[in-house]
Amino acid sequence: MALDESHEPNQLHFLVIPLGSPGHYIPTIDLAKLLAQHGVRVTIVTTPVNNIRFGSILDQAIQSGLPISFLELQLPYMKFGIPEGCESLDDLPDLGLARALFLAQSSLQQEVEQYIEKLNPKPSCILSGSFLLWTGETAKKFQIPRIVFDGMNCFTQMCNHVLYLSKVYESVNESDSFVLPGLPDRIELTRAQLSFLFNSGSRDVKDFGEKLRISESEAFGVVINSFQELEQDYADAYQKVKKDKAWCVGPLSLCHKDASEKVQRGKRSSISENECIKWLDSQEKESVIYACLGSVSRIEPVQLMELALALEASKKPFIWVVRAGHKTEKIEKWIDEEGFEERTKDRALLIHGWAPQLLVLSHPTVGGFLTHCGWNSALEGISAGVPMVTWPQFQEQFYNEKLLVQVLRIGVSVGAQTVVHLGEEEKAGVVVKSEDIRKAIEMVMEDGKESEDRRKRARDLGRTANQAIEEGGSSHRNMTRLIQDIRNQSIIKNSY
Ligand code: UDP
Repeated sequence: MALDESHEPNQLHFLVIPLGSPGHYIPTIDLAKLLAQHGVRVTIVTTPVNNIRFGSILDQAIQSGLPISFLELQLPYMKFGIPEGCESLDDLPDLGLARALFLAQSSLQQEVEQYIEKLNPKPSCILSGSFLLWTGETAKKFQIPRIVFDGMNCFTQMCNHVLYLSKVYESVNESDSFVLPGLPDRIELTRAQLSFLFNSGSRDVKDFGEKLRISESEAFGVVINSFQELEQDYADAYQKVKKDKAWCVGPLSLCHKDASEKVQRGKRSSISENECIKWLDSQEKESVIYACLGSVSRIEPVQLMELALALEASKKPFIWVVRAGHKTEKIEKWIDEEGFEERTKDRALLIHGWAPQLLVLSHPTVGGFLTHCGWNSALEGISAGVPMVTWPQFQEQFYNEKLLVQVLRIGVSVGAQTVVHLGEEEKAGVVVKSEDIRKAIEMVMEDGKESEDRRKRARDLGRTANQAIEEGGSSHRNMTRLIQDIRNQSIIKNSY
């Protein structure tokens, strides 16, 4: 255990517990930095490999004196049958081990409680991933307010809310579209596009969904990686649902200002910062399409070939982040043997592995982002003022697509029709053809009025996003409100 218990009297202390996957860890780490910038002392509960991977995002912040420390606990790999060193979803050789990883992380409850036991005063708040139901029990046991962070926006929260209340999806066929009742816009989805909590069919998942609802309703509030101006109607509606205990404090990734911080995002980049910037600098303004499908998806090589051919047919310069889990070798072989890299070398940069996404997106020659609509990626695209080609894959990504394409009108869909659950990519095979991907890329990248209007909307949102987290901006104010709400809780507790 690495502990730093030095702190100022009356300083609030947040115990931050992230879920083991980059899409959760990265924004949680950013959130920790923002809290510390607002004067809160933060302890992040982590495990050795994740501490090196994600903790290093905060190296500069800690060196500059921000009050952040780590509680490092051993993950019991052997006991749960996880290969040693695999502490995050994207490290697993097989996604079938996801549940074991999740259980291993949950087994840390006892040690976390022993740590809290010894503290005097107790932490002022536990801020944890929504799936970590045990953190709710721990919070209850020590009477500490818990704030949930599940990495979703207010639009998605409201979709889930109305789906849960109305159960409208239960009476429709897989592929029939239906309207989500009671939302500010007319949003239509099919059952096949819903998050796994609503379309898995498994009893276990249903039970988990139920426990999740209860745990969230018992929590003190929910912190949201979004900004009010992006989705004002949904933010207002969600505030009502959460009785004012929802705080939009994003975009969290904007807490990193300089290039060296933007490169450090939870994995060593597979390309040097210099090489990447040099290539981007050599392109024309807003001409490059950047294609990256998140940190965990393991799309089949046959489907990735369709993407590659679409990028080639678009005739635009592009960056493609090539990754296919344990089948990466197969797609690499195709790239090589079919001459793809050779044919496109004059206008393509292939990043084999992990891309410095924040750095790429904030470069002025990037003019479009082909994304799987994971919320972090989508919001990073919004923050950079870049229009998007949307290709949702799993979880709540189809809702995010609706927000980008229909509500904000800054995206063009490739036309994916159904969720491909994590681990079921092989069964799904090819779900989107190269021709459809190419058309969507061209619509985003072309010069016409429609595309220019879309680009302008994206740019305007990017500007507003950057203002939101500055002093006086909506997210900055919401962060102050969140901290004050927790301070009030401490005062109430101490007065008994
Ligand atoms: N990311 C990155 N480089 C990559 C792939 C992903 O930096 O090559 C980061 C990305 O910037 C984002 C996170 O990993 O912050 C992925 O989260 P998201 O919610 O977009 O998708 P997920 O990976 O959870 O599906």
